[in-house]
Parts: sequence; C-alpha cells; structure tokens
Amino acid sequence: FRKKLAKLKKTSAVTKDGTPISLLANIELPEHAVAANEVGAAGVGLFRSEFLFMGRNGVLPTEEEQFEAYKTSVAAMKGRPVTIRTLDVGADKPLDEADNQTLNPALGLRAIRYCLAEPQLFLTQLRAILRASAFGPVQILIPMLSHGFEIDQTLGMIEQAKHQLALQNIAFDANIKIGAMIEIPAAVLSLPMFVKKLDFLSIGTNDLIQYTLAIDRADYAVAHLYDDVHPAILQLLDMTVKAANKADIPVSICGGMAGDIRLTRLLLGMGFRALSMPPAQLLEIKQEVMNIDLMELNAPIKKILRSYDSEVIEEGIRHLKTL
Ligand code: PEP
Ligand code: MG
Repeated sequence: FRKKLAKLKKTSAVTKDGTPISLLANIELPEHAVAANEVGAAGVGLFRSEFLFMGRNGVLPTEEEQFEAYKTSVAAMKGRPVTIRTLDVGADKPLDEADNQTLNPALGLRAIRYCLAEPQLFLTQLRAILRASAFGPVQILIPMLSHGFEIDQTLGMIEQAKHQLALQNIAFDANIKIGAMIEIPAAVLSLPMFVKKLDFLSIGTNDLIQYTLAIDRADYAVAHLYDDVHPAILQLLDMTVKAANKADIPVSICGGMAGDIRLTRLLLGMGFRALSMPPAQLLEIKQEVMNIDLMELNAPIKKILRSYDSEVIEEGIRHLKTL
C-alpha cells in the first residue's frame, strides 16, 4: 500500500473529471520542508512559525535566525510557494510559562493580538519573512484576525517593515501576498471586509470549531463534543468558499479537516480546490482526489448543506464515499 502511494509523488492531483487540486503541506520547522517536497506537495500552505519561538525559555529568535529558517524552507520548496504564518503563540502554544497564567488563554492575547501588542517582535519577524521572499515565492498568513482595525494595523506594520528594508537596500518581494486565517466565527460573518482587504484566505478549522462550538480543543473532557461536521461548521465553510470565489481570491483549508480522508469528497464537493495538511497525509489524500468525480458530488452535497440534522449529514458523508 505504502509503495503504491509512493508512486503518486510525481503524479499531479487531478480529479477524474480533470479538475486540478492543490495539495499543500503544513510544516512547523524548516527541516519539515524536505518531507513536504518528498511527497510532492504543491507548496507549503502553512508554516507554523511559532515553533521557532517555542521551547527557548522566552529567548526570542533573532531576525537573522528567522531569516535563515524561512530561507531554508523557501530553498527546499524549489520555486513552489511557501506560506509563512506569523507568530501564533498563546492558548495551546504558550511562548513561556507566563502565558499559562492568563485567565483564558484561548480567548486571550494570542496570535495577531500578541504581535500587535509587541510591535518590535512583530516587525523583526516581518522583516525576516520579507527578506526570505527575495529567494522564492513567499506569502504571509496572519492568524486569529477578527477586527478590521487589526487587519489595517497589520498591513501598516508590513508596509513599515518593507520601508525599513528598502532604506537599507535589502531585497524583498514588493508584491508579497498577504492572507488571513479564517478561524474565528466573527471573521466568517464579516467576510466582505476580509476579501476586500486581503489577497487570500486560509481556514483554520481547528480553531474555527473550537470557537464556534465553544469547546477547548485541548480539553479531553469535551473532546466528544468536537464535531467537525456540525451543521454550523459546514455553513461557515460554505460561506467562506462562496465569498472567496465571488471575490475571486484564493481560499484553502489548513486545519485538521484538510488532511482527513473521510472529508475529502465533502470539501472538494463544496468547492475547495486547495488543502494544506501534514506531509504524512498528502499521498493518501492525493489518491482519494484522483478517484473523485466532482459532477457526481453536486446533488448529494447540496442535500448535506441543506440539512441541520447531524445524522443526515453523517449519512450523506458516508454516501459520498460510495460514489
Ligand atoms: C487551525 O486553527 O486550524 C490551524 C490551522 O492553526 P493551528 O492549529 O496552528 O491553531
Ligand atoms: Mg489556529
């Protein structure tokens, strides 16, 4: 089975009806880009940059260290795009002990909120990412956005970082694309603002589920309530893919749902054409993609999306598998 999958490394991910699907890799450290490349990922859809910052007793990586790490991943991907997510610390990924003492870490000063509160730390990272963009295609992905002013402030900081580099005559991609993680229900409910201000969207289903269903993703006691196909989640995904398509901007999924083979037919049928997942899952998903005829999915997907009954949804998803 493994050997058969290995043969798919160089095959492009295209459905039976000829629709190309972009299968991207999630990485946490630059050395993971090698694994992404080995399974023939179309690029890195999510580089969780916080892993460069964690486990260092609060000592921050310098601009130079970060630049080297980002550049290494860009070089490893050999011309395929690398989407670097800015620091997403807090909640399940504490930077140091102090983080754990916040009242409610998941609702606290995490991710972009933290970065906007620490402008020097954020500028350092933005400069490092921009510098790496001179060595191959790079995109910047911003986690946990919900307010318009956060988007504006973030874009302002990126402009500031570019300005600083330009003054020093340091090369970067002036047209670098900037995208938002869609992982807070408020972001979905204000999509017109997101698609207006940003170049692309990437759905973080892990947090979107956590915040929509009010279930701590790390709390075992409520793990049985963590339902990735809850009707509310399907509606949010549907709204996001439709808004992105209407605005003609790229949308992907980079949360756990993207690498779950049980859901591949559902997600493609809903209109998603880019999925980012751990490299270890990519070939299996590719094989599934190659077995899908999108035309056959249309009617059953419509039925699933019309339903608010979990049993009907589950049954509908099982039915997709038989097509
Ligand atoms: C997500 O929330 O789905 C996501 C991709 O980001 P993380 O798991 O790193 O929070
Ligand atoms: Mg997240």
